[in-house]
Amino acid sequence: MKTVGRFAPTPSGRMHLGNLFSALLAWLSVRAQDGELILRMEDLDTQRTSPAYADQLRRDLAWLGLTWDRETAPQSSRTERYTEQFRRLEEMGLLYPCYCTRSRLRSVNAPHAADGVYVYDGHCRNLTPEARAAYGRAPAWRIRVPEREIALTDGLQGFYSELLTRDCGDFILRRADGVFVYQLAVVVDDGDAGVTEVVRGRDLLSSAPRQMYLQELLGYGHPRYYHVPMLLSHDGRRLSKRDGDLDLDALSRRMSREALLGWLAFWAGIQKTPRPTDLETLRETFDWSKIPRQDVCIRETMGEKEERNGQ
Ligand code: GLU
Ligand code: ZN
Repeated sequence: MKTVGRFAPTPSGRMHLGNLFSALLAWLSVRAQDGELILRMEDLDTQRTSPAYADQLRRDLAWLGLTWDRETAPQSSRTERYTEQFRRLEEMGLLYPCYCTRSRLRSVNAPHAADGVYVYDGHCRNLTPEARAAYGRAPAWRIRVPEREIALTDGLQGFYSELLTRDCGDFILRRADGVFVYQLAVVVDDGDAGVTEVVRGRDLLSSAPRQMYLQELLGYGHPRYYHVPMLLSHDGRRLSKRDGDLDLDALSRRMSREALLGWLAFWAGIQKTPRPTDLETLRETFDWSKIPRQDVCIRETMGEKEERNGQ
């Protein structure tokens, strides 16, 4: 079967090193297998994302040479399809409205073991119609989770499993403002596009069991997962859009594409030094067994940057 992979960036800013690192690995893995690569804009959050950022992301990927074969519809245009799949789950009797406020959720529920999100206590699971009506406002919608372990063998992180009742609880599929959440959208989008391989940051490993549960219910196959290390700054923080000096705008001013690829390949364990390289060379020698599982601290290695910050 042909491998179908994807880039699924959120167009809320310039690509930064962390996104580039995941995108490079997704590209290398798919290209090394002569597979197909899809680009999809994850713009569910219309407040934070914009078409201008999406254009910029396409230019950023193209500048680095990270080609894609087709772009599928952005999430902001897929509400009808998500509604359809949401209704199917509703017909299975798995959904219920939740009226809990943020402060209630914070005060009553224990933090999720893996990602710090609370574990929902099921407060609204069995509300009577009268109790629901009494809230007098639009609810969020949650899906009931099963009392069984959901496990995967991640191509990089190895065995990982969650008992959703213990580790996450019934989770939200649609917010009170009607917006579908990432967990549903990503499953429907990957499933509809026939994605067979998901390469993304390790911070999303704990989402995989929830997504696999939805894949099962909606009749999609499970993709193969590779959750790649996060790049950390010298203080152990994950790089983010706040690290403006590490976004592609700044990086492309101070180094060539080959130099940047050299650093990314070095952090990825593909080459022993950060010497400049090109995608074709990397593709020819790509092998998942070289990629580290652990997060990679990068500031020290790009030491000269600290001085530039002070300018
Ligand atoms: N849109 C997410 C991000 O930019 C990635 C989601 C995914 O790969 O499943 O972090
Ligand atoms: Zn609730």
